[in-house]
Amino acid sequence: MAELIRLEKLRREFPSGEDTITVLKDLDLVIEAGEMVAIVGASGSGKSTLMNILGCLDRATAGSYRISGRETAMLEPDELAALRREHFGFIFQRYHLLGELDALANVEIPAIYAGMTPRDRRARAADLLDRLGMSDRTDHRPGQLSGGQQQRVSIARALMNGANVILADEPTGALDKHSGEEVLRILEELNAEGKTIIIVTHDMNVASRARRIIEISDGVIISDRANAPERPAPAPVATAAAEQTRRGGYLRSLADRFKEALRMAVLAMAAHRLRTFLTMLGIIIGIASVVSVVAIGQGTQQQVLANISNLGTNTLEIFAGRSFGDTRSARITTLVVADAEALARQSYVAAVTPTVSTSATLRVGSQEASALVNGVGEQYFAARGTKLAEGSFFDAASVRNRATDVVIDENTRKTLFADGASSPVGQVLLIGNVPARIVGVTQPQQGGFGSSQNLSVYLPYTTVQTRFLGTMSLRSITVRVADEVDTSLAEQDVTRFLTQRHGSQDFFILNTDDIRQTITSTTQMLTLLIAAIAVISLVVGGIGVMNIMLVSVSERVSEIGVRMAVGARQGDILQQFLIEAVLVCLIGGLCGIGAAFGIGQLVQALSSDFTLIYSTTSIVAACVCSTLIGVVFGFLPARNASRLDPVVALSRD
Ligand code: ADP
Ligand code: MG
Repeated sequence: MAELIRLEKLRREFPSGEDTITVLKDLDLVIEAGEMVAIVGASGSGKSTLMNILGCLDRATAGSYRISGRETAMLEPDELAALRREHFGFIFQRYHLLGELDALANVEIPAIYAGMTPRDRRARAADLLDRLGMSDRTDHRPGQLSGGQQQRVSIARALMNGANVILADEPTGALDKHSGEEVLRILEELNAEGKTIIIVTHDMNVASRARRIIEISDGVIISDRANAPERPAPAPVATAAAEQTRRGGYLRSLADRFKEALRMAVLAMAAHRLRTFLTMLGIIIGIASVVSVVAIGQGTQQQVLANISNLGTNTLEIFAGRSFGDTRSARITTLVVADAEALARQSYVAAVTPTVSTSATLRVGSQEASALVNGVGEQYFAARGTKLAEGSFFDAASVRNRATDVVIDENTRKTLFADGASSPVGQVLLIGNVPARIVGVTQPQQGGFGSSQNLSVYLPYTTVQTRFLGTMSLRSITVRVADEVDTSLAEQDVTRFLTQRHGSQDFFILNTDDIRQTITSTTQMLTLLIAAIAVISLVVGGIGVMNIMLVSVSERVSEIGVRMAVGARQGDILQQFLIEAVLVCLIGGLCGIGAAFGIGQLVQALSSDFTLIYSTTSIVAACVCSTLIGVVFGFLPARNASRLDPVVALSRD
């Protein structure tokens, strides 16, 4: 028979405080293919340690271990995993089945890591369970099976990848006599089929079933003898057909392992629903606040921009005084009609209108209301882009003649001509005690500045100056800059021009472009600032995810050990936990986006002043962001899991 396993001067030491203890002391051992070997010895003699090294779960401290002539000492963890996957099937005393999976799925696990197609995998697992008399229990979970049945499932798992060596560490240790006998019979049968069986036991009755008994004591082999089994080996059962495993392509196998990792992640999340939800909550709150803050910011910005768009794009508003609220501005009387007329002659000016204003009580019949009385030039409406609902604007002649022609706004029409029966145009309106003829009604201005609930009426500025104010100075001059001229250049020029005329700069200019830019940058700044605070809550959420993932890993150390024993690569384990973290974050992120929409609906239902604008960018960014959080904060726990020592992981219960 061919030599399968060769140990030379194999030594295994464990650190123990300052010292090291030597558990295996320079063992030499050769096992040939097809043997059935029992390793016996007292408890603590080093049987399991030897077994773990044979199964490539553990490494020797010194010496050589060759399997089929291949030295294992220098192999990488993933190469050892490949050996476990292809050559070894483990049977443990405590079965080590995964509690969340049914019998069939447990048996399938090694084949997932080996890359068998799902259909072949399922069929083969069902076959093996059938062969072990478990065909009616394939959908039972380990908790629903007796010890003997669980051990049979674990034997099926060991056979799944067509291992040629079965390593059984006290396989009957936890079983009653009958079940133990059953397991031994199966092992004998497998040996008869040509598999190499290595059983570790402290029970001489079990050992006597093997054809070779190796006894170790205190880490040295004290006897190695042939044994004639009490019963003749059963005739080989033809299972050769079942040995051939069909492998799919590399990509498909990768996708398959990904699917398995996904399924395990979902199972793990479902097993701890409340915990998962609480972990998610951090992400939900973080994402919801970031998305809503950005939406509110954008909504506000758009609203304000829509408001000032009523000012027209390229207008300059020249006021007396140094700035708004300048207490002297009322006394500064240097801004006069002549200024407006001079400005109108500049080449870059499209329209100019002086404005003055006062307030007065309007009366029509028994109706009374107070209103803002604007004295404006005939170009005012063109400069401001105001449109008429009916009638016409007054013209230059009205301004020259100080006519009492009045244009009223929509609010005034609604207040004073509420019946709507007759058109107000042509009717007489008493402004203070000045009767004026209504010539036109403006269209409502959508949310423009000063478009509140105030009533506004427009008269020629000459009329307001003489009949109401008794002064010739102006409140402001509105200049519409010609389309082809840059507004800020025009502003510079107007400043220079008026400063020259007045001898000093006793006015200030509002440039609508500036206002727009200021508002845009201010809201963007604010949005950024609040979003930054919300991002901090996301980071806190991410730390929560990391914390729970660490807990999840430490809870599932034994599962990780089992997966490693059946051949999972480090990458498979890493992937499984990373997927779990990403899934928690991504689902949290999606819930967060949903919550943000909910908040938007609520805000809009409660007050119409707010508009929330959800941009696709912010939603995509939220998804990407939560995935990233999962990857970043899940990485450390997942890497910890993938770097666990399989022996240490398996021994944890
Ligand atoms: P058994 O023959 O009962 O299976 P083991 O191989 O499990 O014995 O253990 C043999 C000896 O090695 C014991 O004394 C045990 O304490 C020690 N040992 C096993 N694993 C470790 C470890 N990871 N660290 C330190 N000592 C260990
Ligand atoms: Mg042991």
